[in-house]
Amino acid sequence: MKRINIKCPYCGSRALLRPASVVYERTLPGEEVYVCARFPVCNAYVSAHRDSHLPMGTLADQPLRQKRRQAHIALSQLWERGLMTRKEAYRWLQVQLSLPESEAHIGHFSAYRCDQVIDLCGRFAGTGRRAA
Ligand SMILES: [Zn+2]
Repeated sequence: MKRINIKCPYCGSRALLRPASVVYERTLPGEEVYVCARFPVCNAYVSAHRDSHLPMGTLADQPLRQKRRQAHIALSQLWERGLMTRKEAYRWLQVQLSLPESEAHIGHFSAYRCDQVIDLCGRFAGTGRRAA
């Protein structure tokens, strides 16, 4: 398993790879998270990929996790309503935000970018749902 060094973007502490049960109540066996060494004082973490053990994005605090969740929901409505396939939705987002494919992952987005995603998806889906 490859060891990688990541730092918490909020406090600069090391992020540690831990079983997901340290932050979530319900987890699946083998689930892991990168969590700030100062957790829970510093409430920042991000899920890890099961196979590679690499982080799914950057560590996020509670408000940013919430924003990313909202952005995921906004984007998933595009394929859930049959407006595009999932693959098309990610490509569309990439074009809308002028991002290379490697960066077009909500797990890497700031709160500002998440708001953009929520607005774009709401406009496309015609729900008029705007970022709060
Ligand atoms: Zn931290």
